Amino acid sequence: MQTQARVVVIGGGVVGCSVLFHLAKAGWTDVLLIERSELTAGSSWHAAGGFHTLNGDPNVAKLQAYTVSLYEELEALSGQSCGLHLTGGVMMADTAERMDFLRLTHARGRCLGMETELITPTEAQAMFPLMDASNFVGALWDPVEGHLDPSGTTHAYAKAAQALGASIELRNPVEDITQQADGTWQVVTQNGTVKAEHVVNAAGLWARDVGRLVGLELPVLAMEHMYLITDEMPEVVAFNAETGRELVGVIDFKGEIYTRQERSGLLLGTYEKACKPWSPINTPKDFGQELLPPDLDRIAPSLEVGFRHFPAFEQAGIKQVINGPFTFAPDGNPLVGPVRGLTNFWCACGVMAGFSQGGGVGLTLANWMVHGDPGFDVYGMDVARFGEWTTLRYTNAKVRENYSRRFSIRFPNEELPAARPQQTTPLYDILQRDRFAVMGDSWGMETPLWFAPSQEEARDVLSFHRSNDFAHVGHEVRQTRASVGVSDISNFAKYEVYGSGAEDFLTRLMTNSLPPVGRMVLTPMLNQNGKLIGDFTIARSTEAHFFMWGSIAAQTYHMRWFEQHLPDDGNVTVNRFDLNLVGLTIAGPRSREVLSALCDEDVSNEAFRFMDHRAMDVNGAPCRVNRISYTGELGYELWMAPAWQRTVYAGIKTAGAAFGIVDFGMRALLSMRLEKNFPTWFAELRPIYGPFEAGMDRWVDLSTADFIGREAAIREQSEGPKCRRVSFVIEAEDADVMGDEPIWARVDELAAGLIDAPHGHGAPRFDAAGELVPADNPQIDGEWRVVGWVTSGGYGHHVRASIAQGYVPASLASHDEAGMFEIEILGIRRAARINRQALVDPSGARMRGVIQ
Ligand SMILES: Cc1cc2nc3c(=O)[nH]c(=O)nc-3n(C[C@H](O)[C@H](O)[C@H](O)COP(=O)(O)OP(=O)(O)OC[C@H]3O[C@@H](n4cnc5c(N)ncnc54)[C@H](O)[C@@H]3O)c2cc1C
Repeated sequence: MQTQARVVVIGGGVVGCSVLFHLAKAGWTDVLLIERSELTAGSSWHAAGGFHTLNGDPNVAKLQAYTVSLYEELEALSGQSCGLHLTGGVMMADTAERMDFLRLTHARGRCLGMETELITPTEAQAMFPLMDASNFVGALWDPVEGHLDPSGTTHAYAKAAQALGASIELRNPVEDITQQADGTWQVVTQNGTVKAEHVVNAAGLWARDVGRLVGLELPVLAMEHMYLITDEMPEVVAFNAETGRELVGVIDFKGEIYTRQERSGLLLGTYEKACKPWSPINTPKDFGQELLPPDLDRIAPSLEVGFRHFPAFEQAGIKQVINGPFTFAPDGNPLVGPVRGLTNFWCACGVMAGFSQGGGVGLTLANWMVHGDPGFDVYGMDVARFGEWTTLRYTNAKVRENYSRRFSIRFPNEELPAARPQQTTPLYDILQRDRFAVMGDSWGMETPLWFAPSQEEARDVLSFHRSNDFAHVGHEVRQTRASVGVSDISNFAKYEVYGSGAEDFLTRLMTNSLPPVGRMVLTPMLNQNGKLIGDFTIARSTEAHFFMWGSIAAQTYHMRWFEQHLPDDGNVTVNRFDLNLVGLTIAGPRSREVLSALCDEDVSNEAFRFMDHRAMDVNGAPCRVNRISYTGELGYELWMAPAWQRTVYAGIKTAGAAFGIVDFGMRALLSMRLEKNFPTWFAELRPIYGPFEAGMDRWVDLSTADFIGREAAIREQSEGPKCRRVSFVIEAEDADVMGDEPIWARVDELAAGLIDAPHGHGAPRFDAAGELVPADNPQIDGEWRVVGWVTSGGYGHHVRASIAQGYVPASLASHDEAGMFEIEILGIRRAARINRQALVDPSGARMRGVIQ
């Protein structure tokens, strides 16, 4: 057996084989895949083989599109058929809400150049005559869907990888993995030990167990999943004979059913509500290529709907019931990338749709390993998007919820209940019980979203339109801007960086120059390619001690980066506080008077300036106070140990009573930051944008020392950014943008060019008479063209306007005239106008305390 390899990939399912292929294709041919049994011996062999492009995260959707586009190349390289059937598919809506969801999906697809199309139930029935169209109100046609042979496809990846020089070792379980002092790995297998520079965990059903070999508890759980295959059905045979075509795939959200043609019958699978985890704690070592016992009672409610919606199905004989396990992460997306705290240990697991995503996962990981960066925005799949709070029980509860909601609508104002509350601040019960806060989940932490007038009203009425929180969030915003408001802001990531090397360390990582003692700066952080990977507030408490605040959702992601760049000499420590440091903000023109009543220091505008940072007692509690506010008002952030938070909050409420102080939640905060044109991490600020594109110019000091990404930033600045972040006011009615909507502009073809639309790759669509329906270019409509996408938005309650932020080509970013842009909200294009200045206090005078 081979005893040395640059990379050992553990697991020969579709994902491991795709990783092997992509590594070899990228030039790393000294790569060895070790499989405990035969290729496909986990979940890959019994998959239904369906594939599609649509995904809630546009970046994951792009990688799914890549996967589908790869299959022909793979067949050519390997000489192995993938058994491709590119049939296209329809998603059926049975309610107005589901139709809103399909309209939103359709609009989002435009930004990616997807040729989805909204069609009538009758048109859908023409493509799949076995349905009863009277059950539905509309449908979405997606030409890039189909099914394939799972085993053939896995072997095609394997053969193509071997043709490029990769090796595969079968029937040889990996039993242990240990890291040596020199950083290399010893991969101990039943047949001997392999020394490797890198290890990839692609162990699918056993990914959690392989993770535990290196002390890792991966948030992944296998669920049982069932599909049925019918005998030959005369209706299917007749359709094939009449049209010469195969039936399209169908997703029926009401029945939680997907169905498609399989030979001359149907294949029908369900994502049932009464779902069942498989092996919730340990995965049996001896589970082989076997199936689980069928349990039709569990899926009976879905089948009953199926019989009504697809009447012919009720008469069909069932040839086979497949029940097999496959894995999910808590949010249903893969876990990919380097693991924080381990060197050269990589994940490619939790892949629930291996035949839609396997290619994209392989490409991502190979890019990351070979080039040091995935090359595109893969945060939605990054293993670092979770933290230690995703414990075994949390994961198991969330995965069950995710599975049972696979075909459910997620409304923009919907918070999911499983595994909550997970972490709470000391104010949780006061805010919820006494102030009627509606809470949301912020990276496993309960955070107030808005405050209702009574306990009965403290819940969200789910909707794609403005909802029952609208008036209350409006009150929170207006009262904060008019007087003062208070909010729990513990859901920031909080760090301290200290030691004799702290200044050099931060100077190397951050684009802005560091502040003097007692002051703060805002600063982006870039990767080597000059793309945004972070956005922080840094305060200097002493020469060698800094406090730092960033996005909580990026905490593991950022810690991984910090630790990768720590000097070896031990002169720098990065400590993250988690909930050991909690926060409150007070904001609004009267906030200084509130603070002043609670402390014994001079906090006048001269003594405690905008961007000052100071340790001071507030209501007798030791706090660190930042003079800054994301609301854009005069305001303060107070940070304290948890034991003090109730005391400080009580003091603020008492001192603020004279000014009519309001509690405000995250929704009011986000509304206020939109009015100020402030960007936010994960929406406007992501690793696909450069700092100049994002309008972060002010915080990039190219004259300072050589920070990571500086050369690329200089290039971006000298060549000029390709696109620009802009803010719009939209003539909306009762719904605002949610993110990822297309931005249309009235332009000639030369002015555009931001979006490279793959056009014309899908399955053809036929109408009821069997005529081919020509595909429209989804991004062009007369003189209008899709030129960009919305990153986030909502309602500005103080300015009473619907606001969106997004990216457009730089050449269009200064066009603030009326009639130039439209933004598609729930399928309707609304007039939109760029506002080049913040709608509230563009000069920043209020924030600086100049206007009282
Ligand atoms: C009933 C059913 C229907 C499905 N339908 C679809 C579908 O229509 N479309 C779709 O895209 N996906 C579908 N899936 C999901 C799909 O099967 C998975 O996404 C895919 O198989 C995941 O592949 P993988 O390589 O990550 O994992 P696996 O296929 O589980 O592969 C992991 C491999 O690692 C090996 N291994 C584990 N531990 C070790 C060790 N210690 N040493 C060596 N080797 C080890 C295993 O033997 C196994 O071969 C379905 C799944 C099921 C169960």
